[in-house]
Amino acid sequence: MAGTVQVDAVVVGAGMSGLYMVKRLTDMGLDVRAFEVGDNVGGTWYWNRYPGARVDLESFDYSFSFDDGLQQEWNWTERYAAQPEILKYLNHVADRFDLRKHFTFETRVESAAFDENRNLWIIKTSGGETVEAKYFISGAGVLSTPKPPEIEGLDNFRGKWYHTGRWPHEGVDFTGLRVAQIGTGSSGIQVAPVVAEQAKHLTVFQRTPVYCVPTDNYKLTEEMRNTVKAHYTERRETSRHNRYGVPAEFPTIKAFEVSEEDRRQKYEEAWGEKGHLLAFRMTYADVLADEAANKTVADFLGAKIREIVKDPVTAERLVPKTYPFGTKRPCLGIRFYEIFNEDHVDLVSLHETPIERITETGILTSDGTLHEVDVMVFATGYDALTGAILRMDITGRGHRKLRDKWKDGPRAYLGISTNEFPNFFMITGPLSPGPLNNMAVSIEQHVEWVSDCIKYMEKNGFATIEAQEQPEQEWFDHVQEVVGNTLYLKANSWYLGANVPGKPRVFIPYLGGAGTYRATCDEVAKNGYRGFTLEKSKVEA
Ligand SMILES: Cc1cc2nc3c(=O)[nH]c(=O)nc-3n(C[C@H](O)[C@H](O)[C@H](O)COP(=O)(O)OP(=O)(O)OC[C@H]3O[C@@H](n4cnc5c(N)ncnc54)[C@H](O)[C@@H]3O)c2cc1C
Repeated sequence: MAGTVQVDAVVVGAGMSGLYMVKRLTDMGLDVRAFEVGDNVGGTWYWNRYPGARVDLESFDYSFSFDDGLQQEWNWTERYAAQPEILKYLNHVADRFDLRKHFTFETRVESAAFDENRNLWIIKTSGGETVEAKYFISGAGVLSTPKPPEIEGLDNFRGKWYHTGRWPHEGVDFTGLRVAQIGTGSSGIQVAPVVAEQAKHLTVFQRTPVYCVPTDNYKLTEEMRNTVKAHYTERRETSRHNRYGVPAEFPTIKAFEVSEEDRRQKYEEAWGEKGHLLAFRMTYADVLADEAANKTVADFLGAKIREIVKDPVTAERLVPKTYPFGTKRPCLGIRFYEIFNEDHVDLVSLHETPIERITETGILTSDGTLHEVDVMVFATGYDALTGAILRMDITGRGHRKLRDKWKDGPRAYLGISTNEFPNFFMITGPLSPGPLNNMAVSIEQHVEWVSDCIKYMEKNGFATIEAQEQPEQEWFDHVQEVVGNTLYLKANSWYLGANVPGKPRVFIPYLGGAGTYRATCDEVAKNGYRGFTLEKSKVEA
């Protein structure tokens, strides 16, 4: 076909997934083209430039482990790195391994269709290019498709508005302005304190309160870095087998097997210096499985909120009451609750007074109050886990559309690949542990599994690999069964697609634990890719 380029593999995205995927494939000698909508590498950390954006796991752990030279030479400056530092790190990775040359930036993969006769994916981009490839790999991200605000009247608003996930590169100066912030999830609780520092007035509109744990962030010293670097190999190995991908042992002890005093001490540690995103989830084995155990954490955190926030009405609004702790993503913040003690910061509960509409000058709530503002910040989240994949028009065997196949929720064997779509792989795809985990660990695991699988195919002369229907359904059932043994279904979370109108209500991430999941994936590979069909070329030219 004239003007069509042929390569071995096409990779979508220049975040951590895309970068590492491209590295592994090109190291194997494959010819790879990669596409990225943004004008540079970084993915999440390229787009989320809002002030306050910061990783909520320790920087040492939220980084690549695949190259010892890289982890030894890179010097994290803060315990929880802020967005500019992570972006710098990912640029360093791109340069160090000379990866940028494989990417075409400012280009979206619009569609991918599998040609059954030739066992090739035909990929079309927004740049008008057509690329044919044996393998099509999505590193399009789990939280990369911002959910539009969807509030009536936004077009009429005369001021400016921003989504945290598409923050302008030049930054936003809120000095002297009246600001409305809508949303108090992970991004919302990070951005609000920084906006509060600058703005004349900040009104935070909260739909559902979150559990926010304070960040004990500090500058890292040379000594601290050297201590970690000296034991990096063991640290990484522990993370790989931990339930959440962090260097800690998952507890076996249950909350009521210890005294109230012991529990309290453990929770104080998790709230303080030992705190990180997953700390409370790892206090006791049954925190996310047993309601009474969960309530001990919820009560502890509720008491902390009431202690910090002086106005009792505001404090009550901030205390989560409608879902168990941890079943919506808990957040790590700096001074989030404290800002509500400041005179120029207000909280509006959208449960009590929902937004009626946006007017030319502000936000009108159901009690008839017009909250007049100059700027709006939407921290309204993402079409998570499936959004970026389904935005591409993907067609498999028999002209099957992925959008049709997934209309009742995603089906994907191990969350990596899906029946009827041969040679298509998803890094941290739906039904894998992904966002419940340290994503750096999840990404490395998937990239390595996929590249090993491709190596196996190339070595053995296979033309296609395809997930089988029955194991795929069994995996889906297993994912749902595991979640059924937890408290997660008691929350309307983005794990369930509940934040996107019309999205099927299916629990998407795999809760069986990242370490166990890794063992399952390895076992499948070891057994000749059990549950997949591998075929030599059917086409003799
Ligand atoms: C604000 C925020 C904070 C986070 N904090 C943490 C944290 O503390 N710890 C943690 O483990 N995880 C965190 N995450 C999750 C984070 O997304 C992952 O850790 C990780 O960065 C994902 O990397 P990725 O490469 O898979 O996806 P992304 O980084 O999302 O990159 C995907 C890239 O693909 C591009 N893309 C998508 N579709 C197309 C297309 N059709 N064509 C071309 N390009 C496309 C996108 O533009 C994007 O740049 C956070 C996410 C957000 C949004």
